[in-house]
Amino acid sequence: MAGRDLVSIATVMAILGGTAGYLLSDHYSNATDTALSASAAESNVMTSPVGSVTETASIPDIEPRRETVILEKGSNLMATLTATGLERTVAYNAIEALRDVYNPRKLRAGQEFDLVYSAPMEDSIELLDELSFQPDPETIVSVSRTDSGFEASSDKIELTTKKNVASGTIEQSLFLAAERNGVPIPVLMSLIELYSYEVDFQRDIQPGDSFEVMYQELENDKGERVRYGDLLYASMTLSGHEVRLYSYTDSNGETDFYNQKGESYRRALMRTPINGARLSSGFGKRKHPILGYTKMHKGIDFAAPRGTPIFAAGNGTIAKIGRNGGYGNYIRIRHNDSYETAYAHMKGFAKGLKQGSRVKQGDVIGYVGTTGASTGPHLHYEILKNNAQVNPIRVKMPSGKKLKGDELKTFLADADILRKQYAELSLDNRKIASAQ
Ligand SMILES: [Zn+2]
Repeated sequence: MAGRDLVSIATVMAILGGTAGYLLSDHYSNATDTALSASAAESNVMTSPVGSVTETASIPDIEPRRETVILEKGSNLMATLTATGLERTVAYNAIEALRDVYNPRKLRAGQEFDLVYSAPMEDSIELLDELSFQPDPETIVSVSRTDSGFEASSDKIELTTKKNVASGTIEQSLFLAAERNGVPIPVLMSLIELYSYEVDFQRDIQPGDSFEVMYQELENDKGERVRYGDLLYASMTLSGHEVRLYSYTDSNGETDFYNQKGESYRRALMRTPINGARLSSGFGKRKHPILGYTKMHKGIDFAAPRGTPIFAAGNGTIAKIGRNGGYGNYIRIRHNDSYETAYAHMKGFAKGLKQGSRVKQGDVIGYVGTTGASTGPHLHYEILKNNAQVNPIRVKMPSGKKLKGDELKTFLADADILRKQYAELSLDNRKIASAQ
C-alpha cells in the first residue's frame, strides 16, 4: 500500500506522546541493531552462498584459508585489507572492482569482511580468491578473482516470509499494551497507521479496548528474523465495537485493507494531506492572529517547513486554482457531488495543474508557503460538505472502494483463511507460552 498518505512517523510519535516517542525510537533502533549484529556475528562462520570459489580450488587436497576482518573505526577498506598482509596492488584491484556494485565510502566501522584465499602451492604466494560482506541483512556483496581479474556482484539474500500474531488489552495506553504483549514496534506503527483513518489515538482509546494483529516476519536462511513485513489482518475493539480489517490484493494487483463487508478502509479523503506536520490550529472559534477579533476558523492548520509537499486528500478534479484573497495561493478539489477539499497559503502549485485537472489521492498538488493572510509557513486545510466547511478531524469520512461480485467472493474466502490462520497461530503461541 502507498505509505505516504498514511500518518507519518512524526505524527505517530506525537500520538504516543513524548516519553513513548522516545521509548519507541529507542526500541526501534535496538531491534535493528540486534538484527544487524546477530547476522554480523554469524558471518564469522558463514560460507558465502554466492560465488563460492570452486573454480580456483584447483588443488583439491588443501582447504582454502578463510579469514574474517573488521573495519575499525577511523580506518578504511584499503588499510583493513593490507593489515591482513594482503599486497597493496591486490587490495587496490579488489576495491576498484567493488566500486562497480558498491561505494566503499558507505562502509561503516564494525563491518565484517570474509576473505577466502586459494590454497597455496609450495613456495608460492597465497592468492585472494574472494572478499564478501553483508552491508545490510538482505544483501551480500562479493568480489571474486577470475582469470581476467576481480569481478564484483551484489545479490539479494532470499528471505522466507513467516506469519506471526499478537493481541492485547489496553489498560493504560496502546503503547504499553503493545509492549507488554510483545508487539514489535514496526508492527505497532503499521497498526496505528492503518486505523488512523478512523481512530483518533489521542482521544478514542479507553481501558478495556483491545487489539489483534497478524503480520509477516522475514527470515534469512539461518532462521534469523531480518525484518517485519506487511500487516495481514488486524482487529481493534474500541468501547465494545470491533473493526476487523483484512489485507487483500484485488484483481488489478492493488493491495488494501477491507472490513468484513469488503469495504476499503482507506477513506475517500485524508484527514491529514501532508506528512510530518504538526497540527497548529484546530477547527472552531479562535482569536484571529492577524485581524485580532474572534472568528470562526473553518479549517485546520498544519505547521510545516516551507516547501513541504501537500497531497490531494482524495481523487477528484481541480475546481479552483490560483490567488484567492486572504487564502493566498489556493486549490479547491471537487471529489464528488457532496465533498470538496481546499488548501491555502501555498508557496506554489505542482507543475501542470489547472482548473479541470484530474488528481488522485496522494498526488502532490503544491507546497507549503505563507501566501495571503498568514503569519508563517503552514497549510490551511478545509473539508467542505455540501459547500459548508466541516471539521476534518471529526467528520465521518466518506468510504472508499467497495468490492462487488466475484471480487467480493474471493475476498471473503481469503479473509476467512486469514482469520483461521490468526486463530491457529494464537493458539500455538499460547501453547508455547504455557509450556515455558
Ligand atoms: Zn487556517
